[in-house]
Amino acid sequence: MSDITKERIAALVNLQQIEIDTHNLKTKLSNVDQRLDKLDNRLLDFKQVIEEQQSVINELNQKYREYEADVRLNLDSIKKSEAKLSSVKTNKEYQSSLKEIDNLKAKNSNLEDDMIEFLDRIEEAENALKTKMTEYSELQTQMDREKEIIQKETEEGKRQLDNLDAEWKTVSAAIDAELLETYSKVKSTQSNAVGITAVIDAVCQGCYMNIPPQTYNELQRGDHLAKCPICQRLIYWKDTHKRSE
Ligand SMILES: [Zn+2]
Repeated sequence: MSDITKERIAALVNLQQIEIDTHNLKTKLSNVDQRLDKLDNRLLDFKQVIEEQQSVINELNQKYREYEADVRLNLDSIKKSEAKLSSVKTNKEYQSSLKEIDNLKAKNSNLEDDMIEFLDRIEEAENALKTKMTEYSELQTQMDREKEIIQKETEEGKRQLDNLDAEWKTVSAAIDAELLETYSKVKSTQSNAVGITAVIDAVCQGCYMNIPPQTYNELQRGDHLAKCPICQRLIYWKDTHKRSE
């Protein structure tokens, strides 16, 4: 395609790297809201578990109070029946009142057994709630910390973007307009936005196909830019055999 200094090639490769870094950074920054929402949702989910647990306890307490009221009503009835005993006229009436009293006492005894069981369940549920509340506050602390990290990362990312932008301007100013335009055109036709790529051992690193020997020979001079006949990207020679560094 054309002869070019090694410095120009390096500048163009550098420019492309800046663009890739910028793109990656922007992608990362665009995820910030999603990441923050995810943290909030985790907290909300946990809060819901706590609220459910709380409503279970409320129901148990409600049931317990109902039993308590029933026991009180039965006790009243027992008192009334006992008071009536002295004024009954027949033995039959007397026996039936006694039976009624016994029935009420048996009912209360059952209710009291149930109440003891409910007290156990309430205590168990309250302990479970306490554990959950502790876990919730730990999670909240952890989420706050993660949010802080995300916010710091965002600020740092924005600073880096500004730097990359400044760097891009400097580097692109050193590349002639015609070459920049060619590079931009090639880049825009590539799905991965890579417009310039190295050729290593006669293989284009953009499409991993062999390039023709003559093109490879020209590239190996180090000051030549060509187009890959297969993927159309700008290609330059990268000597990987000199391992002096
Ligand atoms: Zn190629």
